[in-house]
Amino acid sequence: MTTPTNPDARHVLVINAGSSSIKYQLLDVTSGVTQAKGLIERIGEGHGGHAAHTVNGVTHEIDHSAMNHREAFEILRAAFAEHGPDLAQVQLEGVGHRIVHGGTFFDGPALITGGVAEQIRGLIPLAPLHNPHNLTGIRVMQQLFPDLPHVAVFDTAFHTTIPAPAHTYAVPEYWRTEHAVRRYGAHGTSHAYVARRTAELVGRPLDELRIIVLHLGNGASACAVQGGRSVETSMGMTPAEGLVMGTRAGDMDPTLAAHLFRSAGLGVEAYDREVNHASGLLGLCGTNDFREVTERRAAGDADATLAFDVTAHRLRKYVGAYTAVMEGVDVIAFTAGIGEHSPELREAVLARLGHLGVEFDADANESLRGEGPITTSGSKVAAWVVPTNEELEIARQTLAVVDAG
Ligand code: AMP
Repeated sequence: MTTPTNPDARHVLVINAGSSSIKYQLLDVTSGVTQAKGLIERIGEGHGGHAAHTVNGVTHEIDHSAMNHREAFEILRAAFAEHGPDLAQVQLEGVGHRIVHGGTFFDGPALITGGVAEQIRGLIPLAPLHNPHNLTGIRVMQQLFPDLPHVAVFDTAFHTTIPAPAHTYAVPEYWRTEHAVRRYGAHGTSHAYVARRTAELVGRPLDELRIIVLHLGNGASACAVQGGRSVETSMGMTPAEGLVMGTRAGDMDPTLAAHLFRSAGLGVEAYDREVNHASGLLGLCGTNDFREVTERRAAGDADATLAFDVTAHRLRKYVGAYTAVMEGVDVIAFTAGIGEHSPELREAVLARLGHLGVEFDADANESLRGEGPITTSGSKVAAWVVPTNEELEIARQTLAVVDAG
């Protein structure tokens, strides 16, 4: 991170407001450089709150007692004033807000007007844990920075190109029409960023490529990107469907809920909690930290080995399915915490895809740090590690809206 000196710099402040934490980044979109970033945690607890503001590689630790988002955003403003960069001095073009759910209304970023905020409010039933806090972030930041354009960038927008056969659940009509039941997907900004970056890296136009992006973090999803458009993704109505995740089960029989209501006496709330927060890796082996899963597997732990194998099996299945969906695949891109840092899982997915034309390069996979290929130069299907950068994607989309007026 550097102090802004670039005369052509165009800065965007990116805000990701959750229930008890706020993440932010100040980026220069021209250079792609992060000028400052921070995290304000434990909002609303009254004491023991913590924040960190990093600028020029130095992290400033801040204790706080913010009781609400308004007070937390004041801490953000004070952190910039005290530790820099001075927001009044940088060429700040706008504020980009990450919004989890845009339903079918938003197929791209939107300048936030009263009407847009109302539409985001209307989507709360689809993302009750996220959209309300995203809206609070918008309201408070608009009060603090009233002269700047504020732009909403939706996690779901990239997936609005998914065709009906892929986004429709085979369920009764009134579920679909009256209760908005369909697949929306998530991680859209990450998939969009990684797909574009992958095309740059392989030196081919995005609109000619069939890419499978595997975003493997604590939340995980796969996306089939054909010609730069999302045509299929593994997350569904909510981010619980699809791959095995840190604490989420991913795909399972839809009648499991009824079975457990009857046989285990689970109620709706307990079921919802357990399928989202006590399943996945955590449910299989007691931890959702993939580093620990990998270490325990290497030491011969049976539960960790099963958790790893279920994860890898599900991934291979999705790669095969998405290859069929796109009638082939050109590049497989691994991203996010596990995708970027676990050569073991990448190997478990790729080493048995020779039948698709993947010629895995074990040495490159093992030694790679950061961005790079993990298949041989002659491999028919290439695989790459492509670190994601959701904040830069949000900043770029924000600036595009600002420039469009
Ligand atoms: P994310 O949600 O993208 O931050 O990813 C979090 C996940 O990445 C956690 O399961 C971490 O254990 C995992 N992770 C981070 N670093 C490593 C690593 N060096 N090896 C394996 N997994 C890692």
